[in-house]
Amino acid sequence: MTTTTLAPTPSVTARFRSLERLIGNTPLLAIDFEFRGHRRTVYAKSEQMNLTGSIKDRMALHILRQAYAEGRLRPGDTIAEATSGNTGIAFAALGRALGHPVTIFMPNWMSRERMDLIHSLGATIVPVTKQQGGFVGSIRLSEELAALRSDVFLPRQFSNTANVEAHAATTGPELHLQLLSEGLTADAFVAGVGTGGTVMGVGKYLRRQNPATRVFPMEPAESPTLSTGCKVGQHRIQGISDEFVPAILRLNDLEPVVAVHDGDSILMAQKLASDLGLAVGISSGANFLAAVKVQDALGGDAVVATVFADDNKKYLSTDLLRDEPVKSHYLSPEISLREFRTTKRVCNVCSDAVTCEQKAPIIEH
Ligand code: PMP
Repeated sequence: MTTTTLAPTPSVTARFRSLERLIGNTPLLAIDFEFRGHRRTVYAKSEQMNLTGSIKDRMALHILRQAYAEGRLRPGDTIAEATSGNTGIAFAALGRALGHPVTIFMPNWMSRERMDLIHSLGATIVPVTKQQGGFVGSIRLSEELAALRSDVFLPRQFSNTANVEAHAATTGPELHLQLLSEGLTADAFVAGVGTGGTVMGVGKYLRRQNPATRVFPMEPAESPTLSTGCKVGQHRIQGISDEFVPAILRLNDLEPVVAVHDGDSILMAQKLASDLGLAVGISSGANFLAAVKVQDALGGDAVVATVFADDNKKYLSTDLLRDEPVKSHYLSPEISLREFRTTKRVCNVCSDAVTCEQKAPIIEH
């Protein structure tokens, strides 16, 4: 039996080209701060700058492009996915841009803004209650829909290796080249785990460049799904630690799990916004704290990088915009943010890199 790879039709190819220019190649922030009397810097990719405002655009674009190339997604098919929010927003926007109906299954306790955004992007939302199984129930319902209909495409972000590849092909190389442009290489990368696509993909690329780079997954201390192997407790860092250990996550290939508190993450995200004007979401506050913890373990000069996965606009109705009580074991009160610098975007990983004439200007003498 021969397998044929179908070439996407020209108009679909053109639409993908347009979307590629709106996703990825994000700036890298170098954030200077003081921690326990010492000057420190950590690095964070500014992922809120993607088309729909989160890192999930990268994964959605890559999965859809690959599915078209392999003939698993055809014009007119419905894209259906289970998601806690950002993925739904990304698939809704990209799906509609490519002309597809989109159905999103999501737990009904996710923030109001996420539901409204997905709805405004023309997608159908199927809210799933705790009694129906919450997150795991959302996945089951999407599988049931696909089993009934042949025109339903499931991206399956938790088990699709294209999710990891999206970050190994874009986020990782960008970060590596941006650090190189500052004369640096990453000693460590840390990221909160939702699907695990970010930590596995970026980690894979960075370790290919430098096998000594250490890659850490992060989870909420209040709900340590990764350390315990199952759902325990509750937490407020939307987008990470859903209810199970995702299939694409390989904990054995990573350093030990870093735990951060959700209240501490909220305070940190508030501080990044109010002190530096970086209006990030709760998981970005959590990632920043995890980077500080990792740096503390490796030494103050260690080059530690993470991502700011989204901005604060989807959390206006959540505790992110309320007074959060400070607890004595929190790290954020010990962090004084000073300033941030941006490193330049990287020409070589721009979506137009191959054809761009400005990349290598001809200098005539
Ligand atoms: N932060 C936020 C806000 C997210 O939406 C997600 C994705 N669920 C993550 C972090 C984690 O990213 P990943 O799925 O690549 O592990």
